[in-house]
Amino acid sequence: MTHPRQQTLSAARELEGTGLHTGAPARLRLVPADVQTGIRFRRIDLEGSPEIAATVANVVDTDRGTTIGENGHKVHTIEHILSALVAAGVDNVVVELDGPEPPAGDGSARLFTEMIESAGVVEQDAPAKYIEVAESLSVTERDSSYTVSPASGYEVSVSIRFDHPLIGRQFASYEVDRGVYAREIASARTFGFLSEVEALRSRGLGQGGSPRNAILLTDTGLYEDTELRFPDEFARHKVLDVIGDLGLLGARLKANVVALRPSHRGNVALAREILSQHEKRALARPILDIQQILQYLPHRYPFLLVDRVVEYEERKRIIGLKNVTMNEPFFQGHFPGQPIMPGVLIVEAMGQVGGLLLMDSIENPEEKIVYFMALDNVKWRRPVTPGDQIRFEVEVLQIRGRTARMKGVGTVDGHVVAEAEMMARVVDK
Ligand SMILES: [Zn+2]
Repeated sequence: MTHPRQQTLSAARELEGTGLHTGAPARLRLVPADVQTGIRFRRIDLEGSPEIAATVANVVDTDRGTTIGENGHKVHTIEHILSALVAAGVDNVVVELDGPEPPAGDGSARLFTEMIESAGVVEQDAPAKYIEVAESLSVTERDSSYTVSPASGYEVSVSIRFDHPLIGRQFASYEVDRGVYAREIASARTFGFLSEVEALRSRGLGQGGSPRNAILLTDTGLYEDTELRFPDEFARHKVLDVIGDLGLLGARLKANVVALRPSHRGNVALAREILSQHEKRALARPILDIQQILQYLPHRYPFLLVDRVVEYEERKRIIGLKNVTMNEPFFQGHFPGQPIMPGVLIVEAMGQVGGLLLMDSIENPEEKIVYFMALDNVKWRRPVTPGDQIRFEVEVLQIRGRTARMKGVGTVDGHVVAEAEMMARVVDK
C-alpha cells in the first residue's frame, strides 16, 4: 500500500461574515499551501500580515472557544474551520483573515465544508504525517474526561448530559471521514442557553451570537422559531469541536477517542497528552544514536550539530534533534552574557540532518560527502538559547541523481525557530 500523500486545496475560496464571540466582521480566504506548511492563520489586517500556526503550543485561551496566538497576535474561535479542514483531509492551507475571528456562518462548519468541497482537495508530493496513539491514555480536565485507544483509523465518540428537556443524555459516535463528516457532522450548530447570554456578553463573549448562528435554548425549549437539524445536534456539534481542537496536533490522528462532557479546555489538554506520548515514544527509540550518526557524518566536535535521529523514512523525511547546552563553544562569544545560537549554525544543523537523509540513500556512504549548493527562503523566527532542544524535520522535495532539494523546519517546543529550502549534492570524498 502506498503511503497517503499530504493534501491541500485545488483553488482559493473566500467567505464573509461576523465572528461569534468578537462580533467583528471578517473575510476569510482559504489559500492552497506547499507541503509541510500545516494549517496556518494569517492576519492580513495587521502590519506585516503575521502568521499563527494552528498548533497546540500556540493555544492561548479556551473559554467558550479555542484561541491561538503567536507573538501577541491572536485568532479566536478556530475550531470550526479547523474541524472542516481536518475532516476533509486538508494538511496544508493558509487561512487568511482580515479580522480577529473567522465568520461564524450558521454556527456550524457547513459553510466551511462547502467552501472546501467547491475548491476541491489535491494530493501533494510528500507523505502525510500521522500520529498513531500507541497505548491507551486518559485525561481528565475539570468536568471533561477522555479515553483514547489505539486504532487503525480515526473515530470520535462523545457523551454529554445537560439538564434540559431537549438534550438530556446524548451520545454520538462517528468515523472521521470526509463523506460522513459532510453529511452528519458539518451542519451541527453550536448552542447556548438564553439564561447565559447576558453573563457571556458581560465577559465580552458571544458578541456576534444570534439565533442565526447558534441554537438558542430557553429553560424549556428552543428560542423563537429555531428548529433542530438533528435531535442529537448537540452531541454532533461536540464531535465537530473535538475534531477541530485535535486538529491542533498538526498531523492526522489514528486513534479511537471517547469523550465524556468534552470542553475546549479538555480537548486541548487531550491534544497535549497525545502529543507528549507521541514525542516520548519517538525519543525512547532513536533510529540513529550518536555513534551511528558519527559513522554517517564526517563532522566532528565542535561542528557536529545533530544528537539523535528519531524518525526516518527512506528518501523522504527525517527528524533529528539537537540539544543546545550552555557548553556549546559558540556561546562563549555569541554573545558574552547573552547566549544566542548563531542563526547560520541552526541552518548548518538542519543541513546535517538533511545530509543524514541523503547519505542513507546512497551506497558506500563512508566514501561520500554531502555539499550544500543553495539555500532559499531561509527564515529565522525566534532565538535559540541554552536549554532548548531543536527538532529538525527535513523533507525531500525532489531527488535527481545525486542532487536533492529539501525543505527543513526547526522547532523548539512546537514553535518554529528557523526554516529553509536546501539544495545538496552527494560527491565522492
Ligand atoms: Zn463549537
